[in-house]
Amino acid sequence: MSKYWNKKINEAEPYVAGEQPKPGQKVIKLNTNENPFPPSPMARAVLRSFDISELRLYPDTNATEFIEAVAEVEGVKPTQVFAGNGSDEILALCFQTFFEKDSNTDLPVLTPEFSYSFYPVFESFYDIRSKKIPLREGLRLEAEDYVGVPNCGIAIANPNAPTSRTIGLEDIEKILKGNPDSVVIIDEAYIEFAKPYFTAVSLINDYPNLCVVRTCSKSYSLAGLRVGYAIASEELIEGLKRARDSFNSYPTDRLAQRIAAASVLDVNYHKKCLEEIIATRDYTSEELRKLGFDLPDSSANFIFAKPCEGLDAETLYKNLRAKGILVRYFKTAGINDRLRISIGTREEMEAFIAAVSEEVTNAKNS
Ligand SMILES: *Cc1c(COP(=O)(O)O)cnc(C)c1O
Repeated sequence: MSKYWNKKINEAEPYVAGEQPKPGQKVIKLNTNENPFPPSPMARAVLRSFDISELRLYPDTNATEFIEAVAEVEGVKPTQVFAGNGSDEILALCFQTFFEKDSNTDLPVLTPEFSYSFYPVFESFYDIRSKKIPLREGLRLEAEDYVGVPNCGIAIANPNAPTSRTIGLEDIEKILKGNPDSVVIIDEAYIEFAKPYFTAVSLINDYPNLCVVRTCSKSYSLAGLRVGYAIASEELIEGLKRARDSFNSYPTDRLAQRIAAASVLDVNYHKKCLEEIIATRDYTSEELRKLGFDLPDSSANFIFAKPCEGLDAETLYKNLRAKGILVRYFKTAGINDRLRISIGTREEMEAFIAAVSEEVTNAKNS
């Protein structure tokens, strides 16, 4: 609390990110869903040849080089793409642009009960009512639960975080058709890890109320660069530009635009990293199941696992931490019996499995 802060800041409940170790600290970091592989070699080439004197000049507001790269790879028009300073910023702009703060109707934004923990932060910061829709058995999201419920908008992560589960395109269409007057955000931060791959981008020409949000942070190994993007109808993209230019008209810098464009265009490297992470995810899931853990099939670069009988999630989290392995534990009731484990390299996951096996053995002997 501070007398110098306004009411809103005094009352804010900011997002708490996963722990970042100090530089030089040796840990196996499986707690914030970063990519274990380096960015594309094309990104390094951009950095090497970058002319520092370019930084005298303001960047291109629309990040044209980057949005053209995205448009080419995703098969959409550049006017259907919007770039921002990480997808968190895109989501913040979406909440401000599409979701109503209307004291007369007072309609809520619908989000899954367990989902990306930034959504409730935005809702309270922008004074938008929220309604959490419970997940079904096995952390499954049921599309019908989002139809016939009065709302001012919908935000769903697909794959959902932290559950790692997806809904298919038919379900997304059901939600879009059932809510023609609301914008439906499909946050695809992890969709590239889905096997088989699919994307709601394929629906944007049919549904003007669909806003797909993507990021370079996870699948492109660029969490430190801060570049995210939205793909949607021109009508929605225009709205986001109005919001951006009322707040910060240069959200992505010159260097970030170049590096992100080169990374997105390096389709083969992207694919190679994805395949390796998917294979390592499947290995990790299988090993954990052999140890008696319960987890849904993951479509993301993380898994959401409930430890075997006799081992509770919080104890395992603490014991792994003591061994220098960081995973994510949420205290939230309903999911506090699980751990979210990001997929690292094969070597890291073998070390993780070895450490978990030890904990299982210790628990059984105690
Ligand atoms: C990581 C993540 C984001 C945010 O990514 P940025 O680094 O801000 O681009 C958005 N949504 C979900 C569901 C995420 O897990």
